[in-house]
Amino acid sequence: MPTRATKRGAERTPIDGSHDVLICGASFAGLAVARQLAGSGADVLVIDRYEIGERQTSACGIPTEWMRQLGLLAAERQRFDTLVLHTPHGDARYRLPWTFSTFDYRELCDLLWEQCDARFEPAKVDGRGPVAGDGTIAVTTDRGTISAPLVVDALGWRRMLSVGDGVQPPDAPLSRGLEVHPEGGGADLEVWIDRRYVPAGYGWSFPAGEETRIGVGSFQPRFHVRETTELLAEDLGRDRVRYQGNWIPHKLRRATEGGVFFAGDSAGHCLPLTAEGIRTALYFGIALGQELRAVVAGERTREEAAERYAEFHDSHEWKFRWMLRVQKLIPRIPPRLLGPAIKLMGRRLFVEWSFNHYLAIAPPEFADSAPGPADYLASSQSPPTPTSTSSAGSRS
Ligand SMILES: Cc1cc2nc3c(=O)[nH]c(=O)nc-3n(C[C@H](O)[C@H](O)[C@H](O)COP(=O)(O)OP(=O)(O)OC[C@H]3O[C@@H](n4cnc5c(N)ncnc54)[C@H](O)[C@@H]3O)c2cc1C
Repeated sequence: MPTRATKRGAERTPIDGSHDVLICGASFAGLAVARQLAGSGADVLVIDRYEIGERQTSACGIPTEWMRQLGLLAAERQRFDTLVLHTPHGDARYRLPWTFSTFDYRELCDLLWEQCDARFEPAKVDGRGPVAGDGTIAVTTDRGTISAPLVVDALGWRRMLSVGDGVQPPDAPLSRGLEVHPEGGGADLEVWIDRRYVPAGYGWSFPAGEETRIGVGSFQPRFHVRETTELLAEDLGRDRVRYQGNWIPHKLRRATEGGVFFAGDSAGHCLPLTAEGIRTALYFGIALGQELRAVVAGERTREEAAERYAEFHDSHEWKFRWMLRVQKLIPRIPPRLLGPAIKLMGRRLFVEWSFNHYLAIAPPEFADSAPGPADYLASSQSPPTPTSTSSAGSRS
């Protein structure tokens, strides 16, 4: 059972001030950005309303290779080389060309944080001001106003630092997901495509060592998933305890806006077909961290970094659009055809082709090719000298 670690009351002293980089959100995307800035010499502040790792935000399933590349395997709880698919008209077991792992959220966040040299403060973000004359952006929090020329919104689906109205359910392109975490493990990674649980979406059971994460995700934001999450847990004979749920974006949003950089769910980086958003949050977080690192080193301006990051983000748009189409197509397949269809698609060559293409959207080698903090920290050369904050922050 997670224990609350967030500072309360008198412990929440003011933290106004300015920094080279302000990263809002200390989950997958925010920590990936911070990790990439380790050893850069920049004054990086990371803030989150909770302590790092305090509040789990997902079922914590990811391709194993991503954990290996980032040195996070110590947080792994269970590894799977098959995926079991259930439909009302038949089941199939796919042998995966790569393994998938579940992990412990707190441990993984701690391991990522160990690779950072930023400072962390718990603070709730309330909003932002415009870009100031000196190029800095002020972010208002419950502990004061913090300014930086380089500001990252890794706050999840709400996209708090947007200059518009942000993203409001149920009209926005969002899915919703809810799960329970009963004690007791399991052997298989399982998925249900079954209208009994959700008309458009799927149910899942992800064992993770001593607990199992059982949930339902709906691609239609107006469908409430609480009742059917409970139904699935009941069907599996599992306790309905320790609920965890959230909205999940299923469409890309702008990568930068009003001088702020967005990564992870705030940028819509979650994959629309599967609602898998951890590896993409890490992937785009690494890409963004690399760009910010170059700004800090004086190699490019914030505007150049914004342009490059947006280009990288946009180059994935067609893949996200394609997955959204398939997401919308699956519920239209008559249920009696689904069973035979998933059996047909279970042929080894097709599984290998489709799963390898799917992995290639955010491939684990990307983490390896981007220089990691160890490369900088272990290097005998001194890290690049950061430019002054004002040179990083001209008006945008
Ligand atoms: C039920 C469910 C199960 C899921 N399972 C999986 C899965 O198994 N695998 C997978 O790949 N994806 C899964 N996802 C999707 C995945 O959780 C997200 O895509 C992923 O967490 C995005 O990472 P992120 O860092 O962008 O945002 P988040 O992980 O949502 O982190 C946002 C951070 O911002 C902080 N924050 C938010 N608002 C404020 C504020 N105002 N002030 C300060 N801090 C704030 C939060 O505390 C949090 O730490 C699941 C989603 C749901 C809802």
